[in-house]
Amino acid sequence: NLKMGIVGLPNVGKSTFFNTLSKLNVAAENYPFCTIEPNEARVPLPDERYDWLCELYRPTSRVPAFLEVWDIAGLVRGAHEGQGLGNAFLSNIQAVDGIYHVCRAFDDDEVIHVEGAIDPVRDLRIVADELRFKDLERAKRLLTDVQARLTRAGQQAPKELRIEEETLHKVIELLEKQEQAVRHGHWSNAEIDVLNRHLFLTAKPVVYLVNLSEHDYIRKKNKWLRAIKEYAGDEPVIPFSASLEARLVDLELNEGKQAVDAYLAQHETQSALPKIIRGGYQALNLINFFTVGADEVRSWTIRRGTLAPQAAGTIHSDFERGFICAEVMHYDDLRDAGSESALKATGKYRQQGKTYEVLDGDILLVKFNV
Ligand code: GDP
Repeated sequence: NLKMGIVGLPNVGKSTFFNTLSKLNVAAENYPFCTIEPNEARVPLPDERYDWLCELYRPTSRVPAFLEVWDIAGLVRGAHEGQGLGNAFLSNIQAVDGIYHVCRAFDDDEVIHVEGAIDPVRDLRIVADELRFKDLERAKRLLTDVQARLTRAGQQAPKELRIEEETLHKVIELLEKQEQAVRHGHWSNAEIDVLNRHLFLTAKPVVYLVNLSEHDYIRKKNKWLRAIKEYAGDEPVIPFSASLEARLVDLELNEGKQAVDAYLAQHETQSALPKIIRGGYQALNLINFFTVGADEVRSWTIRRGTLAPQAAGTIHSDFERGFICAEVMHYDDLRDAGSESALKATGKYRQQGKTYEVLDGDILLVKFNV
């Protein structure tokens, strides 16, 4: 399972945000029973396609897709040297596949800032530097190791080892001289193979979450946003207000969805959570396919590029082992046609084999041998 981790300096709103996500998990109508860790939230993906399919089939049971989000506490300046919970913190980042990098752009004299004053771009740099230093340390260690192996192997050294050495040199140069993240480098396929073996922290995709005051969030203005977007470049920046989101989820749990809608209408605003969760999905390169019927409508999560047998395997391992074919219709076509029978008349209901790449929004019926 691919997962996002919440990262940022202390007192920027990470726990507030994480607790909100955890409550959404409970608020989900029909979530699959499973044990989760205290620092793990399984957040239902807001998806109007899924909602529409539930309306159409009115199934007995419905299961949305979930995004797994981990709370990673403990980063401070100097973490790579073991400050604070330094090393534990960094190994927790090692275990996630993408990063929600939360920064603070709200003023509140009651809430102390670890660095003294509010400056989100400085904060983003502190965190990014810690990850970079950690990667650098590791890349240098890996390089020493590879060089020792090359020396031992002499003339017989395999080509892969030389590629590994060159790639590590390039990683070190990028991190140290250019002060850039691994994900910002240009890499050949052979180099990417090396990077995929080592999974550097700065290679993980990042979504920046800018925690605003409710006031700024609602009026869509904040003096730091421009500088943050400049810093982020091509990477997604999502403004939100942790305290507003916390208020909304409590309102939903205590008084129901209508109370939330009323609150949002009154303040002419919207929750940022759908955008945040979809942003995490995109960062991880995840897509959804559906299974539908009177028993159950369910949304499944796979990586973009997954072929039909492996997609079927997420439903049940037997489906992958005994995969014969999948009957596939696309959500958009079903929606246009209005019903399965109308869709079948258009010829857009197709049988697909083992080499079919499942698309976002496909609806699958898997045929398999037991
Ligand atoms: P963490 O250390 O990053 O996990 O931060 P917390 O979520 O514990 O938040 C630190 C403090 O900031 C708490 O007192 C929160 O109530 C407060 N806080 C979090 N988000 C907001 C916000 O959007 N606005 C304001 N005014 N306070 C917030």
